[in-house]
Amino acid sequence: MRSIDEPKVYLVAKTMLEPEGLDAYLNDIGKPDWRPDPNVSDSENLIEAAGRMCYRSWQPYDPAKPEATNPNVSTVRQGNDAYISNVLKSGHGSVLEHASLTFICRNVSRVFTHELVRHRAGMAYSQESLRYVRLDDIPFWIPDSASANDQAKKKFEEVVSFLENTQKELSDIFGMANLSDFTTKKQLTSMFRRLAPIGLGTTIMVTGNLRAWRHIIEMRTSPHAEEEIRIVTGKIAEICQKHFPNIFQDMTFDSDSGSWCFGHNKV
Ligand SMILES: Cc1cc2nc3c(=O)[nH]c(=O)nc-3n(C[C@H](O)[C@H](O)[C@H](O)COP(=O)(O)OP(=O)(O)OC[C@H]3O[C@@H](n4cnc5c(N)ncnc54)[C@H](O)[C@@H]3O)c2cc1C
Repeated sequence: MRSIDEPKVYLVAKTMLEPEGLDAYLNDIGKPDWRPDPNVSDSENLIEAAGRMCYRSWQPYDPAKPEATNPNVSTVRQGNDAYISNVLKSGHGSVLEHASLTFICRNVSRVFTHELVRHRAGMAYSQESLRYVRLDDIPFWIPDSASANDQAKKKFEEVVSFLENTQKELSDIFGMANLSDFTTKKQLTSMFRRLAPIGLGTTIMVTGNLRAWRHIIEMRTSPHAEEEIRIVTGKIAEICQKHFPNIFQDMTFDSDSGSWCFGHNKV
Protein backbone atom coordinates (compact mmCIF):
# COMPACT_ATOMS: atom_id res chain seq x y z
CA MET A 1 0.00 0.00 0.00
CA ARG A 2 1.25 3.45 -0.92
CA SER A 3 0.05 5.99 1.63
CA ILE A 4 -1.16 9.19 0.00
CA ASP A 5 -2.19 12.57 1.33
CA GLU A 6 -5.77 13.72 1.56
CA PRO A 7 -7.52 14.51 -1.75
CA LYS A 8 -6.16 17.46 -3.70
CA VAL A 9 -8.00 19.81 -6.06
CA TYR A 10 -6.42 21.72 -8.95
CA LEU A 11 -8.31 24.41 -10.88
CA VAL A 12 -7.12 23.79 -14.45
CA ALA A 13 -9.50 25.80 -16.67
CA LYS A 14 -12.19 28.45 -16.64
CA THR A 15 -14.33 30.37 -19.12
CA MET A 16 -12.71 33.32 -20.86
CA LEU A 17 -14.31 36.27 -22.65
CA GLU A 18 -13.50 36.92 -26.28
CA PRO A 19 -13.44 40.74 -25.91
CA GLU A 20 -13.24 41.43 -29.64
CA GLY A 21 -16.41 39.49 -30.38
CA LEU A 22 -18.35 40.96 -27.47
CA ASP A 23 -17.25 44.46 -28.46
CA ALA A 24 -18.27 43.89 -32.08
CA TYR A 25 -21.71 42.71 -30.98
CA LEU A 26 -22.22 45.72 -28.69
CA ASN A 27 -21.11 48.08 -31.47
CA ASP A 28 -23.47 46.41 -33.97
CA ILE A 29 -26.52 46.82 -31.71
CA GLY A 30 -25.87 50.56 -31.25
CA LYS A 31 -23.12 50.91 -28.65
CA PRO A 32 -25.02 50.75 -25.34
CA ASP A 33 -23.37 52.32 -22.30
CA TRP A 34 -22.15 48.99 -20.98
CA ARG A 35 -18.83 47.30 -21.32
CA PRO A 36 -17.26 44.44 -19.31
CA ASP A 37 -15.77 45.62 -16.01
CA PRO A 38 -11.99 45.03 -16.09
CA ASN A 39 -12.00 44.48 -12.32
CA VAL A 40 -14.46 41.60 -12.59
CA SER A 41 -13.75 38.04 -13.80
CA ASP A 42 -14.54 37.10 -17.39
CA SER A 43 -17.14 34.58 -16.24
CA GLU A 44 -19.00 37.15 -14.15
CA ASN A 45 -18.92 39.71 -16.98
CA LEU A 46 -20.21 37.07 -19.39
CA ILE A 47 -23.06 36.13 -17.05
CA GLU A 48 -24.02 39.79 -16.66
CA ALA A 49 -23.95 40.22 -20.46
CA ALA A 50 -26.24 37.19 -20.85
CA GLY A 51 -28.77 38.67 -18.44
CA ARG A 52 -28.64 42.18 -19.91
CA MET A 53 -29.05 40.77 -23.41
CA CYS A 54 -32.27 39.00 -22.35
CA TYR A 55 -34.02 42.22 -21.32
CA ARG A 56 -32.05 44.76 -23.38
CA SER A 57 -31.13 46.27 -20.06
CA TRP A 58 -27.63 47.44 -20.95
CA GLN A 59 -28.73 50.97 -20.10
CA PRO A 60 -31.98 52.95 -19.61
CA TYR A 61 -34.16 53.38 -22.71
CA ASP A 62 -32.76 55.57 -25.45
CA PRO A 63 -34.88 55.89 -28.63
CA ALA A 64 -31.66 56.46 -30.58
CA LYS A 65 -30.58 52.89 -29.69
CA PRO A 66 -33.64 50.75 -30.50
CA GLU A 67 -31.73 47.46 -30.69
CA ALA A 68 -29.87 47.98 -27.42
CA THR A 69 -32.56 49.43 -25.21
CA ASN A 70 -36.17 48.84 -24.31
CA PRO A 71 -38.94 51.33 -23.53
CA ASN A 72 -39.93 49.15 -20.55
CA VAL A 73 -36.55 49.81 -18.94
CA SER A 74 -36.16 53.25 -17.35
CA THR A 75 -33.48 52.38 -14.79
CA VAL A 76 -30.84 49.65 -14.72
CA ARG A 77 -28.76 48.13 -11.93
CA GLN A 78 -25.21 49.41 -11.96
CA GLY A 79 -22.27 47.11 -11.34
CA ASN A 80 -21.69 43.40 -11.67
CA ASP A 81 -22.11 42.77 -7.95
CA ALA A 82 -25.57 44.36 -7.79
CA TYR A 83 -26.63 42.85 -11.10
CA ILE A 84 -25.71 39.31 -10.08
CA SER A 85 -27.19 39.80 -6.62
CA ASN A 86 -30.54 40.38 -8.33
CA VAL A 87 -30.09 37.33 -10.62
CA LEU A 88 -29.53 35.15 -7.54
CA LYS A 89 -32.41 36.72 -5.62
CA SER A 90 -34.88 36.25 -8.47
CA GLY A 91 -33.68 32.70 -9.19
CA HIS A 92 -32.75 33.35 -12.83
CA GLY A 93 -29.82 30.97 -12.48
CA SER A 94 -29.80 29.72 -16.07
CA VAL A 95 -27.43 32.56 -17.02
CA LEU A 96 -24.86 31.05 -14.63
CA GLU A 97 -24.63 28.08 -16.98
CA HIS A 98 -22.59 30.12 -19.49
CA ALA A 99 -19.46 29.93 -17.34
CA SER A 100 -17.70 26.77 -16.31
CA LEU A 101 -14.77 25.60 -14.21
CA THR A 102 -12.63 22.52 -14.71
CA PHE A 103 -10.86 20.78 -11.84
CA ILE A 104 -8.57 17.80 -11.56
CA CYS A 105 -9.24 15.93 -8.32
CA ARG A 106 -6.22 13.82 -7.37
CA ASN A 107 -5.82 11.17 -4.66
CA VAL A 108 -9.57 10.69 -4.63
CA SER A 109 -11.20 7.32 -4.16
CA ARG A 110 -13.76 5.49 -6.24
CA VAL A 111 -16.10 6.13 -3.32
CA PHE A 112 -15.77 9.83 -4.08
CA THR A 113 -15.90 9.57 -7.87
CA HIS A 114 -19.00 7.40 -7.77
CA GLU A 115 -20.77 10.02 -5.67
CA LEU A 116 -19.55 12.93 -7.79
CA VAL A 117 -20.69 11.48 -11.12
CA ARG A 118 -24.25 11.25 -9.82
CA HIS A 119 -24.36 14.98 -10.56
CA ARG A 120 -25.44 15.03 -14.19
CA ALA A 121 -26.88 18.45 -15.01
CA GLY A 122 -24.19 20.75 -16.46
CA MET A 123 -21.30 18.38 -15.73
CA ALA A 124 -18.57 16.57 -17.75
CA TYR A 125 -16.18 13.91 -16.46
CA SER A 126 -13.03 12.07 -17.50
CA GLN A 127 -11.85 9.42 -15.10
CA GLU A 128 -8.61 7.46 -14.83
CA SER A 129 -9.20 4.05 -16.39
CA LEU A 130 -8.62 1.07 -14.17
CA ARG A 131 -8.99 -1.14 -17.21
CA TYR A 132 -5.66 0.20 -18.49
CA VAL A 133 -3.79 1.14 -15.32
CA ARG A 134 -2.31 -1.83 -13.43
CA LEU A 135 -2.71 -1.75 -9.64
CA ASP A 136 0.66 -3.18 -8.64
CA ASP A 137 0.90 -0.59 -5.94
CA ILE A 138 -2.32 0.70 -4.46
CA PRO A 139 -2.33 4.37 -3.52
CA PHE A 140 -4.56 4.77 -0.49
CA TRP A 141 -5.71 7.63 1.73
CA ILE A 142 -6.99 6.46 5.09
CA PRO A 143 -9.82 8.79 6.08
CA ASP A 144 -9.22 10.86 9.20
CA SER A 145 -12.10 9.12 10.94
CA ALA A 146 -10.19 5.82 10.60
CA SER A 147 -6.60 7.01 11.01
CA ALA A 148 -7.52 8.63 14.33
CA ASN A 149 -8.04 5.11 15.70
CA ASP A 150 -4.84 2.99 15.81
CA GLN A 151 -6.66 -0.32 15.57
CA ALA A 152 -8.77 0.81 12.63
CA LYS A 153 -5.73 2.30 10.87
CA LYS A 154 -3.84 -1.01 11.24
CA LYS A 155 -6.84 -2.92 9.83
CA PHE A 156 -7.00 -0.59 6.81
CA GLU A 157 -3.27 -1.09 6.15
CA GLU A 158 -3.48 -4.87 6.47
CA VAL A 159 -6.46 -5.26 4.16
CA VAL A 160 -5.14 -2.89 1.49
CA SER A 161 -1.72 -4.60 1.54
CA PHE A 162 -3.44 -7.97 1.22
CA LEU A 163 -5.45 -6.76 -1.79
CA GLU A 164 -2.33 -5.27 -3.32
CA ASN A 165 -0.54 -8.61 -3.01
CA THR A 166 -3.60 -10.27 -4.54
CA GLN A 167 -3.17 -8.03 -7.60
CA LYS A 168 0.45 -9.16 -7.91
CA GLU A 169 -0.49 -12.81 -7.45
CA LEU A 170 -3.15 -12.60 -10.14
CA SER A 171 -0.61 -10.94 -12.37
CA ASP A 172 1.73 -13.94 -11.84
CA ILE A 173 -1.06 -16.51 -12.31
CA PHE A 174 -1.82 -15.04 -15.75
CA GLY A 175 1.85 -14.47 -16.66
CA MET A 176 1.36 -10.76 -17.28
CA ALA A 177 5.11 -10.15 -17.41
CA ASN A 178 5.38 -12.27 -20.58
CA LEU A 179 2.30 -10.94 -22.35
CA SER A 180 2.69 -8.49 -25.22
CA ASP A 181 -0.85 -8.35 -26.60
CA PHE A 182 -2.37 -5.13 -25.29
CA THR A 183 -6.00 -6.27 -25.57
CA THR A 184 -5.33 -9.35 -23.42
CA LYS A 185 -3.47 -7.26 -20.85
CA LYS A 186 -6.36 -4.80 -20.74
CA GLN A 187 -8.92 -7.59 -20.28
CA LEU A 188 -6.90 -9.07 -17.43
CA THR A 189 -6.24 -5.73 -15.71
CA SER A 190 -9.93 -5.01 -15.95
CA MET A 191 -10.75 -8.34 -14.30
CA PHE A 192 -8.13 -7.91 -11.52
CA ARG A 193 -9.61 -4.57 -10.43
CA ARG A 194 -12.66 -6.37 -9.09
CA LEU A 195 -10.46 -7.29 -6.17
CA ALA A 196 -9.20 -3.74 -5.61
CA PRO A 197 -10.60 -1.63 -2.76
CA ILE A 198 -12.99 1.16 -3.73
CA GLY A 199 -10.97 3.43 -1.45
CA LEU A 200 -7.93 3.31 -3.78
CA GLY A 201 -6.53 6.68 -4.86
CA THR A 202 -7.37 7.72 -8.39
CA THR A 203 -7.89 10.86 -10.50
CA ILE A 204 -10.88 12.50 -12.14
CA MET A 205 -11.21 15.62 -14.27
CA VAL A 206 -14.53 17.38 -13.84
CA THR A 207 -16.04 20.38 -15.56
CA GLY A 208 -19.17 22.03 -14.27
CA ASN A 209 -21.01 25.26 -14.92
CA LEU A 210 -21.34 27.74 -12.07
CA ARG A 211 -25.02 26.97 -11.51
CA ALA A 212 -24.17 23.28 -11.07
CA TRP A 213 -21.19 24.01 -8.77
CA ARG A 214 -23.39 26.05 -6.45
CA HIS A 215 -25.79 23.12 -6.14
CA ILE A 216 -23.04 20.52 -5.68
CA ILE A 217 -21.19 22.58 -3.07
CA GLU A 218 -24.37 22.98 -1.06
CA MET A 219 -25.32 19.29 -1.22
CA ARG A 220 -21.87 17.85 -0.79
CA THR A 221 -20.46 20.01 1.99
CA SER A 222 -23.55 19.35 4.07
CA PRO A 223 -22.95 17.48 7.34
CA HIS A 224 -25.03 14.64 5.84
CA ALA A 225 -22.54 14.10 3.01
CA GLU A 226 -19.60 11.67 3.10
CA GLU A 227 -16.24 12.63 4.66
CA GLU A 228 -14.16 12.65 1.48
CA ILE A 229 -16.59 14.46 -0.82
CA ARG A 230 -17.03 17.10 1.91
CA ILE A 231 -13.26 17.73 1.85
CA VAL A 232 -13.09 17.96 -1.94
CA THR A 233 -16.17 20.14 -2.44
CA GLY A 234 -15.04 22.33 0.46
CA LYS A 235 -11.82 23.01 -1.46
CA ILE A 236 -13.81 23.67 -4.63
CA ALA A 237 -16.01 26.13 -2.68
CA GLU A 238 -12.96 28.10 -1.54
CA ILE A 239 -11.64 28.32 -5.11
CA CYS A 240 -15.06 29.39 -6.44
CA GLN A 241 -15.40 32.13 -3.83
CA LYS A 242 -11.89 33.44 -4.54
CA HIS A 243 -12.33 33.53 -8.32
CA PHE A 244 -16.00 34.55 -8.50
CA PRO A 245 -16.85 36.66 -5.45
CA ASN A 246 -19.99 38.05 -7.11
CA ILE A 247 -21.46 34.72 -8.19
CA PHE A 248 -20.73 33.26 -4.75
CA GLN A 249 -21.58 36.43 -2.82
CA ASP A 250 -24.35 34.68 -0.86
CA MET A 251 -22.17 31.68 0.11
CA THR A 252 -20.91 31.52 3.69
CA PHE A 253 -18.95 28.99 5.69
CA ASP A 254 -20.63 27.65 8.80
CA SER A 255 -17.74 26.71 11.05
CA ASP A 256 -19.98 24.78 13.47
CA SER A 257 -21.08 22.28 10.84
CA GLY A 258 -18.14 22.73 8.43
CA SER A 259 -20.58 23.28 5.56
CA TRP A 260 -20.96 25.99 2.93
CA CYS A 261 -24.42 27.55 2.89
CA PHE A 262 -26.20 29.72 0.33
CA GLY A 263 -28.56 32.64 0.84
CA HIS A 264 -30.39 31.54 -2.33
CA ASN A 265 -30.75 27.82 -2.92
CA LYS A 266 -31.19 26.17 -6.28
CA VAL A 267 -31.03 29.31 -8.37
C1 LIG B 1 -26.21 13.24 1.74
C2 LIG B 1 -26.53 12.48 0.49
C3 LIG B 1 -26.94 11.17 0.57
C4 LIG B 1 -27.25 10.45 -0.59
N1 LIG B 1 -27.66 9.14 -0.51
C5 LIG B 1 -27.97 8.44 -1.62
C6 LIG B 1 -28.42 7.07 -1.57
O1 LIG B 1 -28.53 6.48 -0.51
N2 LIG B 1 -28.69 6.44 -2.74
C7 LIG B 1 -28.62 7.06 -3.94
O2 LIG B 1 -28.90 6.46 -4.97
N3 LIG B 1 -28.18 8.34 -4.04
C8 LIG B 1 -27.87 9.04 -2.93
N4 LIG B 1 -27.43 10.34 -3.02
C9 LIG B 1 -27.30 10.92 -4.35
C10 LIG B 1 -28.50 11.81 -4.69
O3 LIG B 1 -29.71 11.08 -4.66
C11 LIG B 1 -28.33 12.44 -6.09
O4 LIG B 1 -28.35 11.42 -7.07
C12 LIG B 1 -27.07 13.20 -6.25
O5 LIG B 1 -26.82 14.00 -5.12
C13 LIG B 1 -27.12 14.05 -7.50
O6 LIG B 1 -27.89 15.22 -7.24
P1 LIG B 1 -29.09 15.73 -8.14
O7 LIG B 1 -30.15 14.69 -8.24
O8 LIG B 1 -29.51 17.04 -7.57
O9 LIG B 1 -28.51 15.80 -9.60
P2 LIG B 1 -27.78 16.92 -10.48
O10 LIG B 1 -27.38 16.25 -11.73
O11 LIG B 1 -26.72 17.61 -9.67
O12 LIG B 1 -28.93 17.88 -10.87
C14 LIG B 1 -29.13 19.20 -10.38
C15 LIG B 1 -30.64 19.46 -10.38
O13 LIG B 1 -31.14 19.43 -11.72
C16 LIG B 1 -32.43 18.83 -11.71
N5 LIG B 1 -32.36 17.58 -12.50
C17 LIG B 1 -31.24 16.90 -12.87
N6 LIG B 1 -31.55 15.83 -13.59
C18 LIG B 1 -32.90 15.82 -13.69
C19 LIG B 1 -33.80 14.94 -14.31
N7 LIG B 1 -33.41 13.87 -14.98
N8 LIG B 1 -35.11 15.22 -14.21
C20 LIG B 1 -35.55 16.30 -13.53
N9 LIG B 1 -34.72 17.19 -12.91
C21 LIG B 1 -33.42 16.95 -13.00
C22 LIG B 1 -32.79 18.55 -10.27
O14 LIG B 1 -33.49 19.68 -9.76
C23 LIG B 1 -31.44 18.43 -9.61
O15 LIG B 1 -31.44 18.66 -8.22
C24 LIG B 1 -27.13 11.06 -1.86
C25 LIG B 1 -26.70 12.40 -1.92
C26 LIG B 1 -26.41 13.11 -0.78
C27 LIG B 1 -25.94 14.55 -0.90
